[in-house]
Amino acid sequence: MEKSITRTKRNITIIGIGPRGGYALENFILSLEGKTDLSKINLLLFEQTGNFGNGSVYETTQIESNWINIPERILLLEKRATITFPKFEIPSFPSYHDWIETDFEKKPKKHIDHYPPRAKIGRYLQQRFQSIITPLVHNAIVTLIESQVEEVIVSETYDISLKTDAKVYKNIDEILLTIGHQPTELSEQLLAWKKFASNKSNVTLFTSPYPIVNFLNHQNVTDKSIVGLRGFGLAMIDVARAISMNFGEFTLEDSYTRKCSYQPNKEYSGKMIPFSLDGLPAVPKPLNALMDDLFKPTETQLSDYTSLIGNPTTQKNASSPEFLLKAFAPIAAKIYLQLKTTFYNEKMSLEETENTIIQWLKDPEYKHASILPNNQPVKNIMQDFVAMATGNKPISLDFCVGQVWRHCQPSMYTALSFNACHEDVFAEIIALDESTKRYSYGPPVESIQQMIALIEAGKIDTKFLSDPDFELTDDGWNFHNKSHSETATIMINSVLDPPKIKVVKSPIIENLLSSDLIQMVHDDLGIMTDEQAYVISENEDHFIPIALLGRLAKGTIIGVDAILECYGERPKNWAEKASNRHVEALRTNDAT
Ligand SMILES: Cc1cc2nc3c(=O)[nH]c(=O)nc-3n(C[C@H](O)[C@H](O)[C@H](O)COP(=O)(O)OP(=O)(O)OC[C@H]3O[C@@H](n4cnc5c(N)ncnc54)[C@H](O)[C@@H]3O)c2cc1C
Repeated sequence: MEKSITRTKRNITIIGIGPRGGYALENFILSLEGKTDLSKINLLLFEQTGNFGNGSVYETTQIESNWINIPERILLLEKRATITFPKFEIPSFPSYHDWIETDFEKKPKKHIDHYPPRAKIGRYLQQRFQSIITPLVHNAIVTLIESQVEEVIVSETYDISLKTDAKVYKNIDEILLTIGHQPTELSEQLLAWKKFASNKSNVTLFTSPYPIVNFLNHQNVTDKSIVGLRGFGLAMIDVARAISMNFGEFTLEDSYTRKCSYQPNKEYSGKMIPFSLDGLPAVPKPLNALMDDLFKPTETQLSDYTSLIGNPTTQKNASSPEFLLKAFAPIAAKIYLQLKTTFYNEKMSLEETENTIIQWLKDPEYKHASILPNNQPVKNIMQDFVAMATGNKPISLDFCVGQVWRHCQPSMYTALSFNACHEDVFAEIIALDESTKRYSYGPPVESIQQMIALIEAGKIDTKFLSDPDFELTDDGWNFHNKSHSETATIMINSVLDPPKIKVVKSPIIENLLSSDLIQMVHDDLGIMTDEQAYVISENEDHFIPIALLGRLAKGTIIGVDAILECYGERPKNWAEKASNRHVEALRTNDAT
């Protein structure tokens, strides 16, 4: 049952206008082409940062040393076609490849992949948004609101309002939440550190790595500072690159392997001390299409994989992610056995390879001669992986599996979203996918070469890398082990929290949860939505027109985080349903 409306315009809102909100808007407008003239729509677009179209991740003024982890070659952000309405037209906008005027089909496969600054992607997204929004604003269809939405209020009679700190917006007919990464509760460790640092002028904690200027411009961060870096992943690389470029420069020494050296300024006597629970580094992506193609499954392999894991009966009967591992292992094993040379030079049978792959995916600590050992200095691990990524060293099984997993991810995300698996099994599958991210969401080779250069220059100290002991002293964080001790006066947290809805600390989500308008999929995951992204609320008698796309929907769907997923099918599905609902509401309204 749903309310009929008697107002002349329907209020449609999108909250959060990053890449996903922007693409959802485009698809919504596109779905209305030929169905209505838009005169009965009042679109309210809320974006708390004012960065409409690009959001905070792709802010255009952020430091250029924040790189995206997807090479331009595969950054397939499709073109938007011209959209025509009776009274006006929305111009087309080029694909990302046309915007950068590069035809990757014409590039030789040896061409080294380029990973642009996130600010450049932001410029693309912002221009794309402007080109759709200008005619919509001109025709009084859209209002842009630079505010944080704090609450979605549904009255007893199912009237919906939105509350910002400045105003209440009433009579809302449709809400799409594309709010991306939300702040979460600080961990116990960070809370204790916050308390520790709060009353010391010489000791500073940054609970978030972004925006990077927050610490770069801080008076306590000087060329003498010893900086602790909590986390050893992609955000740590952004932080370490920014600090080191502030106090010195990198020189490229080999244009093919991207090997570089680091020259600190004369005055830079400080250093950085990164650490994480396992102390293992991110694994670089293959250098170019030539290397990357070695790990690409065939179309047939991918479609067989999709039908195997997408089978509802298999999903329903699964008591663990074993069915997924069994479908994946033969593909990765075949690709590994086809490599000309491998790190382990004994011949392995197909069966042994498949078993080793499954064992290792279940337990990353699993040891086998085909897997690169973790018990060597981190610089050696980084150098070995860089050499594999650039074709200068035979490939280890783990490197191969990580890359094949990445190529299978889009098929897996399609086949496993809205699946028939038990929620605990799906939670395990999501955890398995997360555990591959060290490989499958890896950085460019050049980023790892820079980290190696910083280690060689003594500016990254790896003595305390793996789960170190700390003492909080008057002088700061004292790292110590049997033979070494160092004290950091600055600590930067670079660990981004998982999308666990229970720990999200933002008014809009806390309010939605407390009003029972949304449901959690699983204790460790996000919000339950249907295939068109509408939230499944506890109230089964009344349809609530609230939809959610993106990171917080993890749980009914998988693989929602990367930029390419923002431009996928899901925003289109939502747009189709929301536009049909709009046309239907107008029709009913005209009839009454
Ligand atoms: C630091 C960082 C780096 C990343 N790097 C990469 C990368 O290299 N490659 C990649 O593929 N992916 C990367 N990602 C993943 C990223 O989530 C996606 O690329 C993409 O930004 C997701 O788009 P989105 O629109 O869903 O969310 P976001 O980009 O987070 O946009 C959501 C928007 O909603 C706004 N908002 C939130 N709450 C409210 C509210 N209550 N009221 C009003 N506005 C609100 C926010 O201000 C934000 O602009 C990164 C993520 C982070 C956090």
